[in-house]
Amino acid sequence: MRRKLVVGNWKMNGNRAANAGLLAGIVAGVNAAATPNASCAVCAPAPYLAQCQDALAGGPVAWGAQDVSAQPGGAYTGEVAASMLADFACTYVIVGHSERRAYHGESSELVAKKAVAVLDAGMTPIVCVGETLAERDAGQTVAVVSSQLGAVLDLVGERVANIVVAYEPVWAIGTGKTATPAMAQEVHARLRAQLMAKNAVAAETVQILYGGSMKPDNALELMAQPDIDGGLIGGAALKAADFLAILHAAN
Ligand code: 13P
Repeated sequence: MRRKLVVGNWKMNGNRAANAGLLAGIVAGVNAAATPNASCAVCAPAPYLAQCQDALAGGPVAWGAQDVSAQPGGAYTGEVAASMLADFACTYVIVGHSERRAYHGESSELVAKKAVAVLDAGMTPIVCVGETLAERDAGQTVAVVSSQLGAVLDLVGERVANIVVAYEPVWAIGTGKTATPAMAQEVHARLRAQLMAKNAVAAETVQILYGGSMKPDNALELMAQPDIDGGLIGGAALKAADFLAILHAAN
């Protein structure tokens, strides 16, 4: 039985004051929950990781980053190394989000190197995969997500047990259009089969999250699918009540 995981991806939102309120609201809600079976985390912009560590250390809510350099350190202006994220006790690092792939030209090979950098630093990469609407319409969904995940599996080797996968159809992100539970489950099952072919034991435990307009009112039916092990939440993670409602659905 895989434990459910709900992760908030704050994207480029927030400020110290707003974050303080959001974090306090999340912690209060999680502490008050009667059945805290699911795990949860927030992935904040890099400048606020220290604030997350101050607010969350020792509690039930983990924190993480939204991107990382593939390089260990050195002359890479503007980049943040995995060891620096580990220095702020991050548990998770999102790699290969579709916004990074689309706006920053990140290839699946680069994403794979980032996943390895995260693993090397003792953290868990949340590896995002997903097709565009044009790719779905062209019947390429499985080919696209398999190739994106495959690049990562090629590089992480036996450490596949230590990754989290997030299926985020690009057309569902921030649009209010959610994949139906059946559509999402179909892709999740394909991803699970691909993990299975790599390492059957690990594939049973790797969490595969769904992301893309997951909200309090659709979270329950999405997470009821056998291969949907939680959510990667954008917009709805910016309000404590919505994030907690999704977490409640995961319980
Ligand atoms: P939304 O929940 O806003 O659609 O964003 C999903 C996402 O991209 C999470 O990484």
